Amino acid sequence: MKSNWSIHDSEELYGLKRWGKPYFNINNVGHIVVSPQNNKDKALNLFKLVQNLEKRNFNLPLLVHFPDIIEDRIEQLNHCFSKAMARYNYDGSYQGVFPIKVNQQRHIVESVVNYGYKYKYGLEVGSKPELLIALAQLKNSNSLLICNGYKDKKYVETAVIAYHLGYNILIVIEQLSEIYLVADVVLEHGIKPNLGIRAKLSAKGDSRWANSAGDRAKFGLSVTEIIRALDQLSKSGMLTKLKLLHFHIGSQISAIATIKDALSEASQIYINLCKLGAPMEYFDVGGGLGIDYDGSNTNFPASKNYSMQNYANDVVAAIKTACDSQSIKVPIIVSESGRSVASHQSILIVNVLGVDKIEEFNNTTEIDNCHTLVQEILEIYISINETNFQEAYHDVLQLKREIESLFSFGYLSLYERGKAEELFWKCCRKIKTILQKVDLEVDELDNLHQLLLSTYYCNFSVFQSLPDNWSIDQLFPIMPIHRLTEKPTELGTLADLTCDSDGKVSRFIGYQNVKPHLELHSWEKNEPYYLGFFLSGAYQEILGSLHNLFGDTNAVHIKLDNDGYHIESIIKGDSVAEVLKYLEYNSRDMIKSMHKKTQNAFKNRQITFKESQLFLKYYKDALYNYTYLK
Ligand SMILES: *Cc1c(COP(=O)(O)O)cnc(C)c1O
Repeated sequence: MKSNWSIHDSEELYGLKRWGKPYFNINNVGHIVVSPQNNKDKALNLFKLVQNLEKRNFNLPLLVHFPDIIEDRIEQLNHCFSKAMARYNYDGSYQGVFPIKVNQQRHIVESVVNYGYKYKYGLEVGSKPELLIALAQLKNSNSLLICNGYKDKKYVETAVIAYHLGYNILIVIEQLSEIYLVADVVLEHGIKPNLGIRAKLSAKGDSRWANSAGDRAKFGLSVTEIIRALDQLSKSGMLTKLKLLHFHIGSQISAIATIKDALSEASQIYINLCKLGAPMEYFDVGGGLGIDYDGSNTNFPASKNYSMQNYANDVVAAIKTACDSQSIKVPIIVSESGRSVASHQSILIVNVLGVDKIEEFNNTTEIDNCHTLVQEILEIYISINETNFQEAYHDVLQLKREIESLFSFGYLSLYERGKAEELFWKCCRKIKTILQKVDLEVDELDNLHQLLLSTYYCNFSVFQSLPDNWSIDQLFPIMPIHRLTEKPTELGTLADLTCDSDGKVSRFIGYQNVKPHLELHSWEKNEPYYLGFFLSGAYQEILGSLHNLFGDTNAVHIKLDNDGYHIESIIKGDSVAEVLKYLEYNSRDMIKSMHKKTQNAFKNRQITFKESQLFLKYYKDALYNYTYLK
């Protein structure tokens, strides 16, 4: 078995070199090794790691995070932009922000903040709970804190005071009504925060998230609204605080052409804002930087037809060209790249608990006393050859149906039906062997392949750990993390532990296509067989539980009765503190940290005593209140 199969065959089969570069490789005993720092001398044996963790009672499924990979991704992103800026003589800088919604786990955010310190790498928030995290976690006061999403007054108020506290915070206006909200807060506190505007571009993304842009997008201001916004800002004396233009055309943009279109449109808006008197400083290109899940380097949805460097070049070049044409000073470029920074750093490891496969029957079948239809299948089985296999397949399918219906009417015994099924599968296998030998793809016989696929039962829940695979058919690279010197002899699909029939994985990355099966090794009871789900570090963890840190909603159960209806029970939703606790944030530590920060700010006369008290009150209130907007 092991002789004529090499790790190179495994690399090729699973596409590892294409999507796993430079972090994942196979060592000479056929185990996946991880080089988080892009340095092969410091490779970690993933299989051994999992075995050791299991010995220490860290049971599977296991999500393995590699913060070093985050560091490397942040470095690459900054490196690509600085290279692009050098290339185009861009007299400005890049200052990225990490969108917290992509992965809000404390350890991830801490890694981003720590590794990003020297690049003034900041955070982007889309809700009040995310804002509270960012305020507590950010360390470099030059890093940007960008406030997106729907806002209520408390959100705006917290952000405004945080600005006074010394955060480099920008409130991005996503709807016209938010200007009034900001104006109110400014009137109350006498502090004018820095502002941004989110533009609704007519250039649309090509991805599943295409609706993040376009004329009917949920977020952002249309050109008409931008003009009205400028008027409003000017009337309320805030035009001098408009510093940033933002757009976001969706995640996982596969085609660079789409990004270029958006950049051209947004650059023109930027220039016009400058000309209309806004003291613009930042150009925020949002997210969208894709991940090459299948490694095909194409505009297939699971891929992207550009590199990180191509992306940086195009962003820099577009902005530079537009600004130069009008002799406008080039802005600081901001990107909100989440998927690209967070995807590689985590791998979900699951073990296979069992396999449901069509058994092979080698002993001669005892059917002398069986119904003639059963005998007929045996005759077909014996006669199947390279010329009649297609006809034979249809015949046995027909016979199988007849036998099943005879059984239902009581004309066949259980034994006879069992023998018929046994023979049916024998025929299928024989036909499949012939198909492989003549190397023929017969569309009509696709069904036969599906019939013969094995189901590998895995110890995980798709809904908890791979929600995008279930909800939007996102493909992730999946492969065994060991036995890679051995030829995988089985074709299978994966099933999870849930009782939900959607709890399965039956679409796998091919090369610009989707495969209905995964090549797997024969499974032995009592022998571990581990599968890795790669590039799953963005969105999956939190969509599986608490997307955007909005916790469980309040729920009421209403029952109809003679008088109309009554409320049977009320179930209260999560408070922010409860939600944060799931992510291992200690609300008391967070409050302590904010106490220190406000005290220092007060000592340095950045804020008044009253503001510091108010701020702490808002912080605490928000922590112990419902996560949704009021
Ligand atoms: C989700 C989101 C992002 C992150 O996008 P990626 O494609 O993961 O980089 C950035 N900005 C905004 C406004 C978002 O909603």
